[in-house]
Amino acid sequence: MLALGGGLSFLGGLTSLAQPLLAKYVIDALGAGESVLGPVLALTGVILCGAVIGALGAFLLERTGQSVVLGVRRNLVGALVRLRVAEVDRLKPGDLVARLTADTTLLRTVATSGVTNVFTSTVLLLGGIAVMVVLDVFLFLVAAGMIVAVGLLMGVVLPRIGAATQAAQAALGEMGSHLERVFGAFRTVKASSAEEAETARLDAAAEESWRRGVAVAGWTAVSGTATWLAVNIAFLTILAVGGGRVAAGELAVSSLIAFLLLLFYLMEPISTLVRSATELQTGLAAVRRVDEVSELDQEDPRGGTAPDVDRDGPASVVFDDVAFRYRSDLPLVHHGVSFEAAGAGLTALVGPSGAGKTTVFSLVERFYDATSGSVRVDGVDVRDWPLGELRAQIGYVEQDAPVLEGTLRENLLMAAPRAGEEEVRDVVRRARLTDLLARLPHGLDSTLGHRGVTISGGERQRVAIARALLRRPRLLLMDEATSQLDAANEGALKEAMLEAARHTNVLVVAHRLSTVTSADRIVVMDAGRVRAVGTHAELVAVDGLYRDLAAGQLLASADTP
Ligand code: ADP
Repeated sequence: MLALGGGLSFLGGLTSLAQPLLAKYVIDALGAGESVLGPVLALTGVILCGAVIGALGAFLLERTGQSVVLGVRRNLVGALVRLRVAEVDRLKPGDLVARLTADTTLLRTVATSGVTNVFTSTVLLLGGIAVMVVLDVFLFLVAAGMIVAVGLLMGVVLPRIGAATQAAQAALGEMGSHLERVFGAFRTVKASSAEEAETARLDAAAEESWRRGVAVAGWTAVSGTATWLAVNIAFLTILAVGGGRVAAGELAVSSLIAFLLLLFYLMEPISTLVRSATELQTGLAAVRRVDEVSELDQEDPRGGTAPDVDRDGPASVVFDDVAFRYRSDLPLVHHGVSFEAAGAGLTALVGPSGAGKTTVFSLVERFYDATSGSVRVDGVDVRDWPLGELRAQIGYVEQDAPVLEGTLRENLLMAAPRAGEEEVRDVVRRARLTDLLARLPHGLDSTLGHRGVTISGGERQRVAIARALLRRPRLLLMDEATSQLDAANEGALKEAMLEAARHTNVLVVAHRLSTVTSADRIVVMDAGRVRAVGTHAELVAVDGLYRDLAAGQLLASADTP
């Protein structure tokens, strides 16, 4: 497409060369008193054809540019949503958004007119140089000196343009991430009267982008002017040297004139080449930023072979001496965690905040890999499961913000796109969302706002549970909200959980005594270790920490390390 578009544009250009010739015929015919119909028709035809061909070429080039952007965006989107959780922990989402939107846009013109211009200009330049060599080797050397000088200059300027563009784009990314930070905690920003400070941060990023943009403009101006100067100096030198040689009778006047005309003719491809090269630097800066994303660690959803396990009934979870740290430079969060939860029923994980309970869930879902030891689901190490298969067995209810922008239906179906209306109604009932549904103006198709702001915290929790249940999980992981819910909400949540536990293996990070007392087994964690496993009655009898936790209703003491 690029070649075709470039070729058509070139052809369109060629027809403009034919126009003066045809105009000459028209005038000649007029002068000779002949019929002008033929020449006028030919001229009109050429003009129309040239216009159509030129427009088609320009359209094809632009279309190719858009396709390049589309292709890059598709790849990037695929890479972004498949990123490993550990990578996302250290990245800024706003910056990733800027890479997907702003940086890819830079690729559009560069990928087409930039490339075709470099190609056509290089061809023209090489052709001109060849003719120069034939005309006069000495004058050619002067011209070659000029070309080398321009080349050297570009060698200095281009990397600076590239670096400045990359910095300007990075500043845009920085702006995106600041903005994301502000909207991520919009009410807190307002409540803290932090608007001015946040505006200053955004301003600083915008200014940085401006500064780098100005630097690019400066270097572009330098390269354009210097090229112009170099060509003019070469022109004058050739005029002086060539003139001297013509006077000495060593060179024909016609050769000198031809040479000078040639130099004029080459000015266009040279300046186009310089301009395209600076534009390409912009594109390359964008390519580098886009490439950085594809080099990040990604998950492979299909890797590994599906284990031959019974896919009916609850899935078992085994932690076998698991040690884990989030990053190699961070201390261990789990120091040899071992426990087992098999069969239907409710297993409560309790312990002080920071004990590593939520981390247990992250390892089961394989958001991270254990540093040593093994996590097994259905007796198979999670690293041996194909990731998609593993997660298909599990429903996961996160502790906070588990509702996404969109309708209630979209929120439920995201975990099970093929679920039917009946199933949706069923989980709505099981998650005790019937009242909410009755209150929503458009039922299942009511929008819930950014992060579900239009419904209450307890309702968000239950929407998340309904979503997890719709997946028909064999293993349900629930991170109970630490925030206090009213008795009705709490009761509804507990009922939904216990109902699920009749057929499913339910693991819950529990913050409420009422949840813990109804659990079939309780795993007490402290500082990255499992202290004790048992029922409420057993643990009250043998474990001091558990007694303290239970006495403080778990919740109160959950935040004391
Ligand atoms: P719990 O659920 O028992 O309160 P967590 O499993 O959430 O504890 O956290 C255990 C420890 O791991 C805490 O010290 C916490 O600071 C740390 N931690 C949790 N998530 C991350 C993360 N994404 N990166 C680095 N450290 C983390």
